[in-house]
Amino acid sequence: MASSIVLFGPPGAGKGTQAGNIVNLTGKPQISTGDMLRAALTAGTSLGMEAKVYMDAGQLVPDDVIIGLIKERLTQQDAVDGVLFDGFPRTIPQAEALSEIAELSIVIAIEVPDNRIVERICGRYTCGGCDAVFHDTFNPTATEGVCDLCGSTQMKRRADDNEATVLTRLAAYHAQTAPLADWYRQRDLFISVNGDQDIEKVGAEISAVL
Ligand code: ADP
Ligand code: ADP
Ligand code: ZN
Repeated sequence: MASSIVLFGPPGAGKGTQAGNIVNLTGKPQISTGDMLRAALTAGTSLGMEAKVYMDAGQLVPDDVIIGLIKERLTQQDAVDGVLFDGFPRTIPQAEALSEIAELSIVIAIEVPDNRIVERICGRYTCGGCDAVFHDTFNPTATEGVCDLCGSTQMKRRADDNEATVLTRLAAYHAQTAPLADWYRQRDLFISVNGDQDIEKVGAEISAVL
């Protein structure tokens, strides 16, 4: 498999927001473990049911579940030239498993201070038609309730996007995911961009890196 890219950062850093741009630039498909878990939940699979307990609590889903999901996804034809991982890996064991199944060219970390995260997450909504990401204050739709991209009026908010769960997710990020930064720095794969600026400016920094 040709080389893949990892989009790294805390919940609400802007990974999903920036992913579309990277997909357009590189032609690599986006693989979001969060989106895959939510799809499994909507489909009512046993994997989705198992994951829900962790997601609702703001805790990470066990590594073996996530690694199994990724391995299966990487067997699909569109993954042969590498992919864009969004929200994976999130633990050292996940990164170790990934190193055995895919080659990485770069890990792009979107850095956002903790005190920005709660307002980002609590104002987030997405389009049910095309999954575009919006924000009540920072990135609202031009017409309230209507997607700028596809015209859908099916706006959704995630059950885990509430203040209490965000704090647990941030704690999980610092305890389990942030140590991956050094793990990737040691392997010369890590680049960080400033995520605490306008969406367009973050996108320009990422484009420059790519
Ligand atoms: P992640 O995928 O990392 O969890 P999202 O891309 O879903 O993050 O972004 C979280 C929320 O913050 C969304 O509501 C999004 O519109 C908003 N957002 C993303 N990037 C920025 C930014 N640079 N400035 C302000 N708000 C942003
Ligand atoms: P965010 O970027 O806002 O944290 P995600 O959609 O990436 O949201 O993840 C939502 C939830 O799904 C996480 O809180 C966690 O429970 C689960 N999850 C997603 N990706 C992983 C992963 N790689 N490892 C473990 N749990 C995951
Ligand atoms: Zn849409």
